[in-house]
Parts: sequence; C-alpha cells; structure tokens
Amino acid sequence: MEKIINSRGENTERRYVTRFIGLGFGVVITLMLALAATTLMRLDRIKENIRQIAEDHTIHAQMAHRMFDVARERTYLLFKIANTDDLFLADELVMRYRGLEREFNQARQAILKLHLVPDELALLELQRQAGEKTALYQEVVLDHVFAGRREQAGAALLKDAMPAQEVVLNAIDRIIDMQHQEVAQASKKASEHEHQAYLFLLIGTAVATLLSGWIAFYVQGHMSGLMRRLSDKSEQLRLSLRDLEFQKQALDEHAIVSITDARGHIVYVNDRFCAVSQYSRPELIGSDHHIVNSGQHPKQFFQDMWRTIASGQVWHGQVCNRRKDGSFYWVDTTIRPFIGDDGRPDRYISIRTDITTVKEAETLLKFGNEELEDMVAQRTAELAEREAVLQRITGSAQDAIVMIDHNDRVTFWNAAAERLFGYSQEEMLGQLLHPLLMPAAMKARQEAAFSHFVADGKGELVDKTTEMSARRRDGSEFPIDVSLSAVKIKGKWCGIGIARDVTSRKQAEAALQLLADTDTLTRLPNRRKFDAVLSTEVSRAQRHATPLTLVMLDIDHFKSVNDSYGHPIGDSVLIELARLVSSHIRAHDIFARWGGEEFAILATHSDGEETRHFADKLRLLVAEHTFPSVGHLTISLGLATYQSDERIEDFLARADKALYVAKSEGRNRVESL
Ligand code: FAD
Repeated sequence: MEKIINSRGENTERRYVTRFIGLGFGVVITLMLALAATTLMRLDRIKENIRQIAEDHTIHAQMAHRMFDVARERTYLLFKIANTDDLFLADELVMRYRGLEREFNQARQAILKLHLVPDELALLELQRQAGEKTALYQEVVLDHVFAGRREQAGAALLKDAMPAQEVVLNAIDRIIDMQHQEVAQASKKASEHEHQAYLFLLIGTAVATLLSGWIAFYVQGHMSGLMRRLSDKSEQLRLSLRDLEFQKQALDEHAIVSITDARGHIVYVNDRFCAVSQYSRPELIGSDHHIVNSGQHPKQFFQDMWRTIASGQVWHGQVCNRRKDGSFYWVDTTIRPFIGDDGRPDRYISIRTDITTVKEAETLLKFGNEELEDMVAQRTAELAEREAVLQRITGSAQDAIVMIDHNDRVTFWNAAAERLFGYSQEEMLGQLLHPLLMPAAMKARQEAAFSHFVADGKGELVDKTTEMSARRRDGSEFPIDVSLSAVKIKGKWCGIGIARDVTSRKQAEAALQLLADTDTLTRLPNRRKFDAVLSTEVSRAQRHATPLTLVMLDIDHFKSVNDSYGHPIGDSVLIELARLVSSHIRAHDIFARWGGEEFAILATHSDGEETRHFADKLRLLVAEHTFPSVGHLTISLGLATYQSDERIEDFLARADKALYVAKSEGRNRVESL
C-alpha cells in the first residue's frame, strides 16, 4: 500500500495522461462545435439570401408584370375611348384609364425600391423616357376624342401612341427577362455557397475525425501501459489489504482496540473491547473512554496522557478500567495519534493487552510479602536447626562426608574427612578437591568425568559405591570406598561423597587371594593362578607379538618315591624341587604346581630355542641335585612355543604332548613341539 501511495511518478503520469485525454477531447468537441456553428451560420446566411432574392424576385416579377399588364390595358382602354360614340362611356373609360396610370406608377415605384442592377436601372430609365413620350401621344389622342375628332384620335393612336407604348412594353419585357437572369445567377451563387458550406463541413469533420483517431491511438498506447500498471498496483493493493486484514484479525484476537476522534469520542471498538468491558458496541460508539474510567488514577495521570497524545507523541501506560458490572480490569495501553492534513491529531488508536492477572498477582505479592517474610524467617530458623542437627550427625559420622560445588570447590568437610585425609575443615573449605585428594595417575580421567557430571549430574560413579585410591595430606595413597551422589543447588550440579578407608579390608582380601592362588605344599602359585596368568600372557603375546613358551615338567618315577619312602618324603621331594627350580627361573617367569608331581613354567619373552636351552639346564640341575632321603631324581620336560591365534587349550595340549613324548622316549629329557 505504501508503495502505491508513495508512487508519485505513477500518479503524475496518470494525471498527465488524463489531462491530455480531457484536453484532446475538449479540442475535438470545440472544433466540431465551431465547425457546426460556422456551417450553420453560413447556411443560414445562404438561406436568408435565397429568401431575400426570392422575395425581391417575387415583388420584382409581380410589379414588372403589373406594369406590363397595366400598360397594355391602358392602350386597350385608349383604343376603346377613341372608338366609342358614347361620351359617358368615354368618361368612365378615361377615369379607369387615369386610375391605371396611378397603378402603373405605384408598381414602378415599388420596383425602384428594390435592389436593382445598373442594367435594370438603365432599362427603367428607358421605360420612363418612353413612357413620358407615350403619355404625350396619349394625351393628344384624348384631346382629339374630347374635341370630337374621332378619326384624328384613331389616327394619332395608331401612328404615335401605340408605337410609343410598344417601346415601353419592350423595356418592361426586358426588365422581366433581366430579372429572370438575375434570379438564375443568385440561385447559382447560393447553390455554390451551399456547396462550399458542405465542403467546409466535410473537411472539418474529416479533421475532427483524424484528430479523434490520433487521440484515441495515443490514449490506447498510453492507457494499455497505464492499465497494466494500474492492474499490478491494484493486485499489490489487494495483497496489502489482505495482509492488513490478517494483521487486523491477529490484532483483534490478542488486543483490545479502540479508535477515537480528536475529541476522544469513540468511533471504533473491536469485539475484545466489548467482551472485556462488558459494554455493547452501540453503548461505546459515540461515547468517550470515561465510560470505563475506574476513578483509580489521579487527574494528573490523564492530563499527562492527553498532553502527550495531543502533541502527536505515542503514550504508553498501564490503566485500570471499570467493567459495566463495576469490577476492575487492568490494561497495558499504547495510544498512537494519527496526524491529519492540518498537522494536528485527528484520530487516536489505542491498543491494549489485558494484564489483570499480572496486576492481581502483583497485589497478592504485595499483600503476601509480609506473610512471606514471616514464613522465610520461620523457615530459616528451621533450617538453622536442621543444619545444626546435620552438623552433629555428620560430625559424629565414621565416614568422611564431603561436598563440592560445580567448580570442584569444597563446601562441606566433616570431622571424619579431617581424620581420613589429614586436612582440617578450615584448610579445605573453598579449595579444589580433586587436585588435593586424587592420585596424579587418575587426573585426566577424573577431569573428563567431572566435566560430564557438572553438565547433567550424571556419571559412571554417581549413585554407586566405588573403590578407588586417594591421597592423604602426607602424600601416601590408600584405598577408599566412595559413594557419590548428585544434588542440584541454584540450578548447578554439586556432588556429595561419603568415603571410607578400606586399607585393612583390602589387606585381608589380598591375603585371602594369595591363599586361594597358592599351592599349600610347595608355596608355588597353584593351577588356578597359573591358568589366570597364562590367559593374561597369551593375550599380551598376541597383542604385542612377543614370544611365549610353556614348559610342562614332571618328576620321573615319582610314584615309586612315594611307594618306597612314604608320602611325607614324597612331599618333601616336591617342596625341594619347587625351591630348586624357583631359585633358577627368571623373575618375570611363572613357575607353578600343575598338580601331583607335575609343574609348569611360563617363560615370557622367550622363544622355543632359548627356553629349550634353559629347560635342559634345569633337567641337568635336578639330575645332579641330591634330594634328602631319596638321593638323585630326574625330570622330563615338554615345551611348546605359542603360535599366533592359537587357542590356550591347544597351546597346553602341545606342551603336554611334548612332555608325553619326553616320557615315552626314555625320560630325563626335553622335548618340544
Ligand atoms: P477528562 O474530562 O477527560 O479530562 C482529563 C484531562 O484530559 C483534562 O486535563 C482535559 O483537559 C484533558 N482532555 C480531555 N479531552 C481532551 C481532548 N479531546 N483533547 C485534549 N485534552 C483533553 N480513559 C480511561 O479511563 N480508560 C481508558 O482505557 C482510556 N482509553 C483512552 C483511549 C484513547 C484513544 C483516548 C484518546 C483516551 C482514553 N482515555 C481512557 C482517556 C479518557 O478519554 C478520559 O480523558 C479519562 O477517562 C479521564 O476522564 P475524566 O472525565 O476524568 O477527565
């Protein structure tokens, strides 16, 4: 819409084209009217001329014919006068004769009054002269008649009067002819004028038509572009209006809207205004907002409001209004003035949101504040009591109770923690916990776990009891059991740990473990322990591709020792062998009792050749050794070197088989597979 309103160029062009069209048609119409008027005037003049000519001609013709007729009748009367014997009749005829003379002169005078051409005037002059002559001759005839000289009268008539009269008649006749010619010429001229007028009209019409055509062509050219642009603009306008309608709908749905005139009289309210105020639209329109005035604001409030909006500025404020039923409601109000052509506001639009609930909450909050403060004081006292109880409990607890905030800083440290770690409460509060208590080896793992913990209060160790190492103030490390839990304080995850020293338990466990892994007779690792070590070393050998050799060792003819010397001596042989071999194997090799008189050695980082050499040395060592009560004994040895990806059972089976081969090949020997 704004675009259209602001498109001054478009409007100027539209005005220009409209003016041009108006001007063009004005010119054409004026031209046509002038043409018609001129033509009509010309035609009127021609008509007038023709009428005048016709009238003149009629009079002219009548008078000329009258003269002619009168002249002839007079000649005839004169003839009758000259030939009658009756004097009374002659008198009567003379009187008529004289009367006709007056008629003749009257007709002539009438002709003279008309517009006459010089030829006509000359003919009339000729007629006058001839007439005067004729009159003289006729008087002579009459003198003869009244003197009784009838014969002389007849002779004078025939000889002088009648020829003279003939001249007059000829002259009149020629005047009549001339008159005819004149009429013919006048009529021809009138006809020419008429043709000219029609031609003029025709040319004028053609010019006007051409002009109209050119204007139409020009208009069509400009109008189609203009119409297209107008249609574009109209589409834009339609879309803008639609958008405005949507905006209005959206506004109406959420806001209380009213519009007033400059005097504050309401001219528009939306449905929401009616619904909230409980007044109907007819009740509101024409009234002013005083209708909803609650009386809750001082006079100054509205004075300021009016001063602001009347000066053309936007006013914003919270207004308490009264519904029709007398109840109050609060509106957050914005009033925007619309400036008229005279530069002063001519409309005010107000847009409000209902904030009654917020205001009620504010009131409640205000009134409830004291109560709340009492409650807070009471609650603080309760909390202080509880804290004291908690202090007593945690103070007397045997386990260390430690609390840290989201920055790893210690916020709680009980007496047991002081005892366990060797730091006092004063020293620890506010300190970073983990750098002080965590062994250096665990630092990286602990830092990663802690950053996860502060993010969501979760972690591997949370809500569990976990065994781990801790460091005392003196730097000594010791095992502890820690139960960790998470607590959110002011939106941040904090940790609580309950720790207990488990050193003695660990020692007892280690002793028990040793017992479980040791052969009670020889004090060597038993088969269970050997199995565990074998599994570990096989994995290691696989991982690092290091050589690993297994030696199975068995005392030859041990059964006969037992049978000959009894079991206690047999046991002492086993103990002596264990001691002997143990003192010769490398520190990182494992020597275990496999069962009965059978032993196993796991030589790590040793290939078959090296180990075979070592096994042979052992065989010789034993063969040369003197066992108390028994004397010399021999051992057989079977060895196998671990092959890549070999199963442990197969590895064991190969060593066992090698031992079997050594036994079957005559004992006191080393075999490998
Ligand atoms: P008023 O007689 O109105 O006088 C109060 C002050 O306003 C006086 O200083 C007076 O000089 C000045 N004043 C009044 N009319 C005009 C004017 N036409 N031009 C310049 N100054 C003037 N009032 C509400 O209580 N609640 C509303 O929600 C509310 N909404 C309004 C929305 C709009 C668009 C407008 C224009 C006014 C609104 N008012 C509203 C104000 C309302 O018109 C009254 O001015 C107000 O209610 C105080 O009424 P009153 O009879 O006590 O005082």
